[in-house]
Amino acid sequence: MNIHEYQAKELLAKWGVPVPAGIAAFSVDEAVAAASQLPGPLYVVKAQIHAGGRGKGKFKELPPEAKGGVRLARSAEDVRAAAADMLGNTLVTVQTGEAGRQVNRLYVTDGVDIAKEFYLAFLVDRASGRVACVVSTEGGMDIETVAHDTPEKIHTLIVDPATGWRAHHGRSVAAALGLSGDLAKQASSVSEKLYAAFIGTDASQIEINPLAVTDDGQLLVLDAKVGFDPNALPRHPDLMQLRDLAEEDPAEVEASKHDLAFIKLDGNIGCLVNGAGLAMATMDIIKLNGAEPANFLDVGGGASKEKVTAAFKLILADPAVKGILVNIFGGIMRCDIIAEGIIAAAKEVNLGVPLVVRLEGTNVDLGKEILANSGLPIVSANDLGDAARKIVAEVKKVA
Ligand code: ADP
Ligand code: MG
Repeated sequence: MNIHEYQAKELLAKWGVPVPAGIAAFSVDEAVAAASQLPGPLYVVKAQIHAGGRGKGKFKELPPEAKGGVRLARSAEDVRAAAADMLGNTLVTVQTGEAGRQVNRLYVTDGVDIAKEFYLAFLVDRASGRVACVVSTEGGMDIETVAHDTPEKIHTLIVDPATGWRAHHGRSVAAALGLSGDLAKQASSVSEKLYAAFIGTDASQIEINPLAVTDDGQLLVLDAKVGFDPNALPRHPDLMQLRDLAEEDPAEVEASKHDLAFIKLDGNIGCLVNGAGLAMATMDIIKLNGAEPANFLDVGGGASKEKVTAAFKLILADPAVKGILVNIFGGIMRCDIIAEGIIAAAKEVNLGVPLVVRLEGTNVDLGKEILANSGLPIVSANDLGDAARKIVAEVKKVA
């Protein structure tokens, strides 16, 4: 689960991380009022969306020469104009994809005079199973570009969980940033606090880009992207409150209500599968047969008829879906229950696309019989390869 920049900064401030003063605003008037509470004379009005690259982004509704989603303002009028330009409009950045994101929230923050911009991030390094701290002197720009063009400018420290953050880690961060004296101390302190916040909130990512050195020698977090491990969220009810459903894919939000693991993809074959491994294998075999899956969907081990119906509705709500492949291995789940769920769902949602079903496992014969007697145009398959070939052929017929 990701949160907005303003939420991330409020959170990090509680962990002692230095951030400029700022106030969130949901309307143009609120943005102007927010600026009046800040010292000035320089303000920054920032679009709040769960994507980076806002500064260089473009608004769909504005002329191409208009400024992006991070704007400097020197007066209340400037703040008003910037807020009016952004709120309700769609910001397209390198991270949003072509569709862009509607801006519904703003952050009005103190503008600072920047001497240098660094990059500092904490994330889970899956290879070592530990927390990695990634440091670069090349802040303010797209870190993927830095990694591609000048990989030697990116330094990675792996932190052993048995020792936690130590003074030498802080010194390494400062050294990687080429800092000495007071700034080195500040770098050491900021990174130690960020690590504590990372562990304390069960974060999966804390990315500071830029970590700025100001003209008066302060190290300040100017942008923060924070995400949490969803499996740990039940331990943090306060963080759960920060979820912004408007930033999430509506189908994925609906899926989470039914406890379905669902991820929308770009293809046209909807997949309903039990078990994440089987779901991955199903997607692979669809690709092997020259087509693309429209989603990843794991209904879980013990799905009920209601859950299967909800899953069907989710798949069919996607207009790109031209066919559905149901691939169920009935272990804990019985094939007859699945068959009943499929029929109930197909009737309820007015199934208008070809449906191929592959059932295997407990009560498979009964399940197949229920499907065969349903009167629905369901194509039955014997194994995974057969199922994939059949659904791809069916979808080609329609297309
Ligand atoms: P994004 O990464 O989404 O483009 P940032 O918050 O990093 O958004 O802002 C982009 C750039 O705007 C920063 O690299 C920095 O140069 C400038 N900037 C951001 N916040 C401030 C601020 N408070 N004061 C001065 N400049 C800022
Ligand atoms: Mg940034």
